[in-house]
Amino acid sequence: MDQPKAKKEFNKLQKRLRRLTGQAIIDYGMIHEGDKVMVCLSGGKDSFTLLHILLGLQQSAPVRFEVVAVNLDQKQPGFPEEILPNYLAELGVPFHIIEKDTYSIVKDKIPEGKTTCGLCSRLRRGTLYGFAEEIGANKIALGHHRDDLLETLFLNLFFGGSLKAMPPKLLSDDKKNIVIRPLAYCKEKDIADFAEQMGFPIIPCNLCGSQENLQRQVIKEMLQDWDKRFPGRIETLFNALQNVAPSQLADRNLFDFMGLEAQREQHQAQKIQLADLLAKDVGKLTQ
Ligand code: SF4
Repeated sequence: MDQPKAKKEFNKLQKRLRRLTGQAIIDYGMIHEGDKVMVCLSGGKDSFTLLHILLGLQQSAPVRFEVVAVNLDQKQPGFPEEILPNYLAELGVPFHIIEKDTYSIVKDKIPEGKTTCGLCSRLRRGTLYGFAEEIGANKIALGHHRDDLLETLFLNLFFGGSLKAMPPKLLSDDKKNIVIRPLAYCKEKDIADFAEQMGFPIIPCNLCGSQENLQRQVIKEMLQDWDKRFPGRIETLFNALQNVAPSQLADRNLFDFMGLEAQREQHQAQKIQLADLLAKDVGKLTQ
């Protein structure tokens, strides 16, 4: 592609990511005036993109909010400690690097050959949530995108026996933190292209030696295959996440199936009442 054309394409991509991120922020009320948003930066393509798009939106948004980048150095062997501080300092964004050796805890607690991601993620989450409180950040922004949300939906559906995904906005279990996912409407492919063209200094995510979750990988491939063979299916699936009909499912906690008879009686009683009133009015008119 010639240079002016490539530049035009890049601008279009950046605009699309900004528009979709801005839309998700508005739709879910993710950021308000005076918020302090802590962006969790792992060093992967998604979190770098999130940081950049949020910094861009910060310039044009009608509300004022702060952005602080935070990286948790989990002490994985070979983690290039200098990359993120250098990058963030050059970018001129406020940042913190937290050092916590969760790697040793995970290695110690999980037997060889078992998947380590569950405990590792819990430890990371706990540390980051606690740190957000420490620095007075009232929002924690994560780089999950549309494809992550859908993969999680199918993981839970196929392996977890529950109909749930990853929400764009979430109140933590202890009710202390609000987690936001501003890239919830963005495609992974767009994010990968953006990260590549921006030349972000990506830190590989397999330093811990753990294999990528095999089940997630299978789901990812299934979705990618559908996307190729049935264009538009992924968009339809994502729309479905925003268009849930509890009365058409079978969760007794979400919908009052036991109360349907009472609803019907109430409806019949209202109809009779209305018919009586109408009859009275017609009677008055014909007198
Ligand atoms: S891949 Fe490694 S660093 Fe990432 S969550 Fe799993 S154990 Fe933790």
